[in-house]
Amino acid sequence: MSNKNNLEQKAQRLIFESGDEGIMQSELWKKLGVSSREGSRLALKFEQKGTIERRKILHNGRWSYKLYSKKEYVTLDVINGCPCMICDEIDKCFEGGSKNPLSCYELSQWISPKS
Ligand code: SF4
Repeated sequence: MSNKNNLEQKAQRLIFESGDEGIMQSELWKKLGVSSREGSRLALKFEQKGTIERRKILHNGRWSYKLYSKKEYVTLDVINGCPCMICDEIDKCFEGGSKNPLSCYELSQWISPKS
């Protein structure tokens, strides 16, 4: 992996780890050891990709940007209770198979919003 990719990954990770608090642009650049010019270019790139949000804030009397990650944690909880996890028919279940996820009653019941 190139140094550029490493730097981008490290930046994304630091922004992600800052959570709801976000991280000041200047703080991020310090942690990465890059110039503000290089860092700003990186932030703009992430923003264009849609992975972060830049919010303009007044910090110590100066306008600056705070960076927030748009990525969210995904855990296995999202598939908890899915009938496919314990289904004996899973090997035959595909479009055109003897079972089809598009017409499966159990799956559609699990997907339906619970009241
Ligand atoms: S979609 Fe239905 S039939 Fe297919 S694996 Fe899931 S539970 Fe089984």
